[in-house]
Amino acid sequence: MKNNRIALKLGFIIIAVFLIVLVFLGLTIGRLFTSFYFDRMQTENEELGSHFAVMAQSDSTSGEMMKTFAEFSNVSIFNVNAKSEVILHSGTHDSSDRNMIRSADLDRIFAGEKVNYIYTGPSGIRYFVSGQPIYEQDAVTSALYVMSSTEKMEQSLLAARNPLILSGIGAFLLALGITWIIAQYLSRPLLIMQQATRKIAAGDLETRLDMKSKDELGSLAQAINDLAADLQRYRDTRQEFLANISHELRTPITYLEGYTQVLRQELYETAEEKNKYLEIIHDEALRLRHLVEDLFDLAKMEEGKINLQLDGVNMSDLTQQVVRKAELKSIEKGLNLKYNETGTMRQIHADKKRMEQIILNLLENAVRYTEKGEINVSLTYTSSAVLLVVEDSGMGIPEDELPYIFERFYRVEKSRSRQYGGTGLGLSIVKKLVELQGGQITVTSQVNQGTRFEIQFIRQPSCQEAGE
Ligand code: ADP
Repeated sequence: MKNNRIALKLGFIIIAVFLIVLVFLGLTIGRLFTSFYFDRMQTENEELGSHFAVMAQSDSTSGEMMKTFAEFSNVSIFNVNAKSEVILHSGTHDSSDRNMIRSADLDRIFAGEKVNYIYTGPSGIRYFVSGQPIYEQDAVTSALYVMSSTEKMEQSLLAARNPLILSGIGAFLLALGITWIIAQYLSRPLLIMQQATRKIAAGDLETRLDMKSKDELGSLAQAINDLAADLQRYRDTRQEFLANISHELRTPITYLEGYTQVLRQELYETAEEKNKYLEIIHDEALRLRHLVEDLFDLAKMEEGKINLQLDGVNMSDLTQQVVRKAELKSIEKGLNLKYNETGTMRQIHADKKRMEQIILNLLENAVRYTEKGEINVSLTYTSSAVLLVVEDSGMGIPEDELPYIFERFYRVEKSRSRQYGGTGLGLSIVKKLVELQGGQITVTSQVNQGTRFEIQFIRQPSCQEAGE
C-alpha cells in the first residue's frame, strides 16, 4: 500500500477535480433546466389567464362554463371585485385562503396591469399565479386570478433529474476506472525505478532499467542507468587501484625484509657488499616514501581537497631553477641538458610549488628514461599562451601505449620504471595538476628516438599585466 502512495495521491487529485467539475456541471444543468421549465409554465399560466379574461368579458360565457373550463384545465380561478370580495371561485385551491390576493397587486390590476408571481399555499404547495383585469365598457370591473399548481411540473422535473444523476454516477465510476489505470500507468515505472535504485544501493551495480520512453520518466531511467554504470566503473577502478597499491607496497617491503635479514645474519662477505645492501634498503625506503606521498597527493586531488595557492608565477625563473635541480643527475648519466626560451616573459596565474612539481616530474622522467643524447627544456611565450616543452632522446614510448601513460600505475614494460625507481603515479599526478591549473598536457613519442611532453597554459589578462 505504502508503495502506491503516488498513485493514490494522483488518483485522489484527478477524482477530486473531476467531482468538482461534475457537481458544478450537474448543478448548472439542473438550474438551467428548472428555470427553463418554470418560465414556460409561467407563460402558459399567463396565457390561460388571458384566455379566462376574454371568456369573462364575453356575454355568452356563464360562470358555470368558466368553472367547468377551469376544472378541465386543472387550474383554480378567483374573480375578485374592487372591494376585494371573491365573486367567483373554482378549482381545488381553498377559496378561504386568499393570501395570494394582495392589495398592492389588486391596485395594479384595477389600474389595467397584469401581475404574475409564485405563491406558496399554507400546505406548502407552490402555485403560478396570474392576475388580469376584466373590462366592461373600457372600465375594470373585477380582477381574475388563475392559479396552477407547480406540483406536476416539479414531479416531471424530478423525473428528468433522475437520469441526469444516474449518468453523473456512471461518469464518475468511469472516471474512477480511468484514473486508476492512469495512476497505475504513471506510478508503475516509478516503482520499478525505486526497486532498481534499491538494488544499486545494495551493491548490485549490474542492474539496468529497460525503459525506452522519450518523456521525463525515460530520461530519469536513463540517468539511473548512467549512475549505475558510473558506480560500476568507479568500483572496478577502485578495486584495481587497491590491487595496484598492495602490489606496489609488497615489492619494496619484500626487498626491505630480505636485505635486512641478510644484514642481520651477516650474510655478506665484504664491507662493500654490505654497503650495497644498505643502499638498496635506503632506495626502497625512499621509494616507499615517494609512493605514500604520491598516493596522498592523488587522494587529495581526487577528493577535490587540494588547495592551490594561485599567484603570478614567473615561469622562466621557475623552469630554470628546476633545470638546475635536475642537472646533477643528467651530468651523472652523461646527458646534455639544455634550456631555451623564446618570446617575452610573462607571468601565469598558477601554484608555484605545484608547477615546480610538474616540471621536475617531467624532467626526472626524461633523465630516468634516457641513456644518451640530450634533454631539451624550452619555454615559448606567445601573446595568448605559454608553452613548456620537455623533450628527450631516450627510449621512447610505443605508440599503442601512449594513450595510457597518464593512468595511475601504468607503466610501459612493467619492470621498466621499477628498475628506474618510479612509482607509476607521476604522470597521472602531473596531468591532474596541469588540468587543475587550467592547462593542457600532450605527449608524442617514438621508440628509441625520444619523447616530447608539451604543456600549454592559456594566459589570463591579469597575469599579462603582472609580468610586463
Ligand atoms: P614512473 O614514476 O614509474 O615514471 P610515470 O607516471 O611518471 O611513472 O610514468 C608512467 C610510465 O611512462 C613510466 O613507467 C614510463 O614507462 C613511461 N614514461 C614516462 N616518461 C617517459 C619518458 N620521458 N620516456 C620514456 N618513457 C616514459
